[in-house]
Amino acid sequence: MNLPYAEPYKIKMVEAIKRSTKNQRLQWIKEANYNLFNLTSDQVFIDLLTDSGTGAMSDHQWAEMMIGDESYAGSSSYFKLKNTVQRLTGFTYFLPTHQGRAAENVLFSALVKAGDVVPGNSHFDTTKGHIEFRQAKAIDCTIDEAFDTSNLHPFKGNVNLNKLETVFKTYPKETIPFCIVTITCNSSGGQPVAMENIKAVSALCKKYGILLIFDSARFAENAYFIKKREAAYRNKTIKEIAKEFFSYGDGMTMSSKKDGLVNMGGFIALNDEEIYKKATTFNIMFEGFITYGGMNGRDMGALAVGLDEATEFDYLESRVEQVAYLGQKLVEYGVPVQKPFGGHAIFLDANKFVPNIPREEYRAQALAIELYIVGGIRGVEIGTILADRDPKTRQNRYPDLELVRLAIPRRVYSNNHMEYVAVALKNIYETRQEAKHGYKIIEEAPIMRHFTVKLEKI
Ligand SMILES: *Cc1c(COP(=O)(O)O)cnc(C)c1O
Repeated sequence: MNLPYAEPYKIKMVEAIKRSTKNQRLQWIKEANYNLFNLTSDQVFIDLLTDSGTGAMSDHQWAEMMIGDESYAGSSSYFKLKNTVQRLTGFTYFLPTHQGRAAENVLFSALVKAGDVVPGNSHFDTTKGHIEFRQAKAIDCTIDEAFDTSNLHPFKGNVNLNKLETVFKTYPKETIPFCIVTITCNSSGGQPVAMENIKAVSALCKKYGILLIFDSARFAENAYFIKKREAAYRNKTIKEIAKEFFSYGDGMTMSSKKDGLVNMGGFIALNDEEIYKKATTFNIMFEGFITYGGMNGRDMGALAVGLDEATEFDYLESRVEQVAYLGQKLVEYGVPVQKPFGGHAIFLDANKFVPNIPREEYRAQALAIELYIVGGIRGVEIGTILADRDPKTRQNRYPDLELVRLAIPRRVYSNNHMEYVAVALKNIYETRQEAKHGYKIIEEAPIMRHFTVKLEKI
C-alpha cells in the first residue's frame, strides 16, 4: 500500500473556533439579511469565504516578524524579499505593494491608456476593474473547455491561441499594452495553465511584439499542476518549473495573500528598466517609497520566507490534495461539483444541486445560506447576485453557471474539517427535493451588490 500524503508540518499554536446551534444560526443569518458577508467571524464555524489572506504563517515566518527592519529606506527586510523574488522568478526589477490590486494599479498606470485592449485568460475582477477604469477593454481568450463544468481538460486555464492571435491581428500594436495570463486562473475556478500553453503564448506575443505579464497570485499551485500533469516536468522541482514559466514573460503582478502565505501584501517584478522607472513614480504616489511600498518591514520578511515555503513540493501536495480530498468526498456522496477540482477551492454546481429553486430566487445564494444554517460553514455565491444587473436594462444577468465556492485557506483546517463540510452537504443534498424557494432582494447597491445586498426569504 502506498503511504498517503500528510501535512509536512505539525501544529504549535491553535485558535479556537466557535460551534453554535442551528437555532442561533437561523437567527444570525436573518439578522444579517441573508448576506453571508454580514456575519461576524465568531458566528462562523468553518470559514471558506476566501483563501485570500486567511492562511497560517509558519514559525520561521513569525520569527521574521520579530526581526523586521522598519527603516523607511533601504530596510534589510526589503532586500531579503527582493533577493527571494529575484531568485524565484528570475525577474530583474522588483517593487513591493500593499496587495495584488495595488500592484495592478501601479503597473497599469504605467502601461494602460484609454482605448487600449488587454487580452488574457478570464481576467480576475480587480484586474478587469483596473483595465476598465482606464477606459480600456479586457478581452477573454480562455479556451472554450473552461466553461463546461464536466469537461475534464487538465489545463482549463489555457489561452486559446487563435482567439489571442485574432486580437493581435485586429487591433494596432500600440493599443495592446500587454497580454495577461493568470496562473492559476481564478475566474475559471482555480484552473491551471500548461507550460506548453505559456510557451506558445509567449512565442505569439514575441511575434507581434506584445509584452507578456503574469497575474501570479497562485503561481506555485500552477507549478504543482504542471509537475503532476505535464509529463516533461514530472522530475523538475516546483522552483525550477516556476522559474521556467516566468522566463517566458516580461513581468508579473502578485497578490501575496495567496501563494505568498501572508495575510497582506503584493508586488510587481519586471525585466524592462523603462517600465520599472515609470512604475516607480506611481508606486511612490500610491503605495510608498520603493523599499516598502505599503508593507511593514516585518511583513516583507515574512513574505520572503512564505514564498520559499509555498514553492516546496511537500507543502503544495498537502495543500492541493486537501482541496481534492473535499472534492472527492463530495463526489462520493453524489453532490454535484465542478471538475476537475481547482487548486484552491471546490465549486458546488447549484443548477444541478437545487434545480427546483427558480433562478429568479437566487438558487446558489439559497444553497450557500442552507450550508451556513446546517453546518455553520461560510462559502460564497458565484452566481446571479455576483453577476449584477445589466447596466442598461437593469435586468438581472443570469450567468451560465450558478456556483457556491468553498475556498480552502492554506495550512488552516484539517481533513476532519473537510469531512464535516462534506457531511453537511450530503445531508442537504439528501433533502434537496424539499427546497423549492429561495430569496428576493429588498435592497441592493448599483454595482458590486453582493457585498451589501439585503435579502428576504420567500
Ligand atoms: C486576489 C487576486 C488579485 C487581487 O489581489 P488582492 O491582494 O486581493 O488585491 C488579482 N488577481 C488574482 C488572480 C487574484 O486571485
